Amino acid sequence: MTRPAALAAGLVLVALLATACGPDQHDQAARPQFSPFTPATSEPAPTTAPTATPTPPPADPTPSRPPAPRSTVGPLDTRRTTGSRGVALTFDDGPSPDWTPKVLDQLRKAQVKATFCVVGVKVRKYPRLVARIVREGHTLCNHSWQHDLELGGRPPAEIRADLSRTNREIRRAVPGARIGYYRQPGGKWTPSVVQVSRELGMVPLHWDVDPRDWDKPGAAAISKRVLAQARPGSIILLHDGGGDRSGTLTACPGLFGALKQKYGIARLK
Ligand SMILES: [Zn+2]
Repeated sequence: MTRPAALAAGLVLVALLATACGPDQHDQAARPQFSPFTPATSEPAPTTAPTATPTPPPADPTPSRPPAPRSTVGPLDTRRTTGSRGVALTFDDGPSPDWTPKVLDQLRKAQVKATFCVVGVKVRKYPRLVARIVREGHTLCNHSWQHDLELGGRPPAEIRADLSRTNREIRRAVPGARIGYYRQPGGKWTPSVVQVSRELGMVPLHWDVDPRDWDKPGAAAISKRVLAQARPGSIILLHDGGGDRSGTLTACPGLFGALKQKYGIARLK
């Protein structure tokens, strides 16, 4: 390219850039100003001042990677990823006579393994379901005695009693069962509950992907959210207990297939 030609090309580029920036700046100016007197609603408060110009994400040389890097560890150094490319499926709040057997059927059909985060009072009520979970090669996770969201804030002795009672109930259902994980209800971790679970030989298990299936958004939304958020090594949070899980169940076969194909499904041990 000759020097005048290069100069001309540069000018055209500058002109194009100026044009491209125009509408954005116009949108910024036209955006309604946030009023401090706006009545409170149930919507979450904006995390940034609406008048602030959002910082554009830096140019990503590897577009296949997610733009905002997520940590590979959970709150308070809890487990969030599998440590391999494979993703892990976790099912919380069971066992449930309505949903757990159906989830187990789907897992068997897809030939994949999952982790079941079970609640003590339900283990006491449905011990045979816990036995089936173990018999079919899945992993167990303690999810507290009665799904106490505030357990982490209680004295360590109380936390220890709760987790130990749950483990005893699991082992009453399945003598000698390995319980390698503890998941705090609601993910409301505290240093105490993390420490006690470790002392009892359980890895505190958080998650990387939460499609909020407990909110019953429907099977299509559950699948879409999981597939949009998943990345290599994600631990995925789903529910087989605690309410109507028909949406989750309907999403399962497609999800298992897609995740298996894209990442592989890892078994937490
Ligand atoms: Zn739960």
